[in-house]
Amino acid sequence: MQKVFISFGYPICIISVLSASIFLLENGYTELEVLLFGAISSIFFTVIGEIFIPLFKDWRPSLKENFFPDASLFVLNYIVFQSQLLQIFLASIAMKFSGGGFDLWPSGLNIYVQLVFALIIAEFGLYWFHRGCHEIPFLWRFHRIHHNPKRLYWFNATRFHYVDVTLLQVCGIVPLLILGADAKIISLVTIFSTVHGFWQHVNAEQDQKILNYFFSGPELHRWHHNLKSEVANHNYGNNLIIWDHVFKTFYWPKHNNEQLRSVGVKGNFSNNIKSMTLDPFKG
Ligand SMILES: [Zn+2]
Repeated sequence: MQKVFISFGYPICIISVLSASIFLLENGYTELEVLLFGAISSIFFTVIGEIFIPLFKDWRPSLKENFFPDASLFVLNYIVFQSQLLQIFLASIAMKFSGGGFDLWPSGLNIYVQLVFALIIAEFGLYWFHRGCHEIPFLWRFHRIHHNPKRLYWFNATRFHYVDVTLLQVCGIVPLLILGADAKIISLVTIFSTVHGFWQHVNAEQDQKILNYFFSGPELHRWHHNLKSEVANHNYGNNLIIWDHVFKTFYWPKHNNEQLRSVGVKGNFSNNIKSMTLDPFKG
């Protein structure tokens, strides 16, 4: 059972949750309801993995350093400030500047084929914004909050500064809007990102083999959180790893050594919600 989880838990969970999400969206459930279903399903499986087959036992989250700061950022970003609404607002402004979009989206194709196209196209915007966060000091101030923790676990997936998570999602959505993709496709990309994000940060043994050449899963993403910036400045993919191949930032040494265990950012940073939210604006 453990071997099945290690090799196939990630693709089975993502494919089955996405298939169920397509069914639910086509049968009248709202995007928010389906998103909640996807998030809860993904959290359930990743937490099970972390309990029974943790990769590193010392990555188990501490309440004070991990869970409470992550939960407070989650409440602030997604419940109080509703980052999803700001994303839609910013995307609609971007649409005005782009002339309202083109009617180029292949909406007659099978929904799964459309989703694959959408993930590849959205990933282009996600890749370059994420890479910009690591290469442009002003953006790094906001993105550093995601990299500060010295441990990885499922809840790192939503640990972002409000500015960072909002602009990231806008950069993913805008290319789809410009091409004329409809709301259902954009919802499915958002659901995929949510379900995938919890797996991407999971502290459970994983062995995805050939899938690591296509998806930005946990085995690759752990290196992106490495303490050494020359190692961490790779694998910028959010869902797919395709653009890292194109722009030569793919990194997979295929071993889980002690260097993998060292994640975070050099220096000490506050986990206080007020500091995390306001300090990036001060420099
Ligand atoms: Zn990053």
